[in-house]
Amino acid sequence: MSRVYNFSAGPSMLPEEVLKKAAAEMLDYEGSGQSVMEMSHRSKVYDSIIKSAESLLRELMNIPDNYKVLFLQGGASTQFAAIPLNFLNGSGKADYVITGQWAKKAFAEAQKYGEVKAVASSADKTFSYIPKLNKADFTPDADYFYICMNNTIYGTVYHELPDTGDVPLIADISSCFLSEPLDVSKFGMVYGGAQKNVAPAGLTICIIREDLLGKARDITPTMLNYQIHADNNSLYNTPPCYTIYICKLVLEWLKENGGLEAMKERNVKKAKLLYDFLDNSKMFRGTVVPEDRSLMNVPFVTDSDELNAKFVKEAEAAGLINLKGHRTVGGMRASIYNAMPYEGVQKLVDFMAEFEKANS
Ligand SMILES: *Cc1c(COP(=O)(O)O)cnc(C)c1O
Repeated sequence: MSRVYNFSAGPSMLPEEVLKKAAAEMLDYEGSGQSVMEMSHRSKVYDSIIKSAESLLRELMNIPDNYKVLFLQGGASTQFAAIPLNFLNGSGKADYVITGQWAKKAFAEAQKYGEVKAVASSADKTFSYIPKLNKADFTPDADYFYICMNNTIYGTVYHELPDTGDVPLIADISSCFLSEPLDVSKFGMVYGGAQKNVAPAGLTICIIREDLLGKARDITPTMLNYQIHADNNSLYNTPPCYTIYICKLVLEWLKENGGLEAMKERNVKKAKLLYDFLDNSKMFRGTVVPEDRSLMNVPFVTDSDELNAKFVKEAEAAGLINLKGHRTVGGMRASIYNAMPYEGVQKLVDFMAEFEKANS
């Protein structure tokens, strides 16, 4: 068997140990005589799976007790509507920072429900940086302040959080979930689709400060009402059972491998290898300003579209797949989430060096 290194932005690689464990438990989960895919979500055996997923997540992320953890469906994109429906119900105002496609989509969705303002944007330079924020532009009585923490497509990340005072900060952390420690207490809510760094597609995890619940608009569909899911411990209806199970295995893997501090150390090492190469290459260069570079998503280009295409094709033949960049940036993007081993990035960098030599 030969496995590739998958640099996709998502769905993305899962730890091989997790896949092996899932395979071993496929037909008979812990003596239950059935697969996790087949069992009732109301059964005792499943209850212990979802409960341990939650407690492992709380432990790894050090989530304070006054936060609810919800396991939902619909992807991160569904939260773009759920967030205003649940929270845009005081002043009816909210602030958004536009740092890429995902922030833009969240902003556009929220515009349907209230008076939302884009307080800053980095659209002028294809979102290659995190814009400087001026507190004077913030709406003092906003119901919340929204950011996309790690910008998957453009490869930027907030190294410093905006100071929003008493206005709850809400962050989309889809592509940096569990990649390093995060102080959850600084946020009103963080959430993300699991398919980047946590589990297969189908699961969205929302972590919400309790005092923000219970304010949903009357028109909020039941399935988008966070309070309903919190009251029912994410079992209001059938949850994405199997994905939550894989999530549990990934969380166990994280714990066995030293938790989020250790993960950060690994991720910094991997990213440094790639960024150092880019900074010294005469053919390839990173597209993001150095101070806002993401540890997870690394876009890069050459000066020629033909060379870019040739690179992506030859890399794929060498077992380095999904390196094509997003169409709005062009070139390449390497997503190097938790499950990408150091050897995968080393192989990529070696391949880039060879390619540069052969084509210059
Ligand atoms: C992938 C991604 C999304 C969209 O996620 P879906 O689960 O496909 O809706 C939203 N935000 C960010 C930051 C992402 O990386």
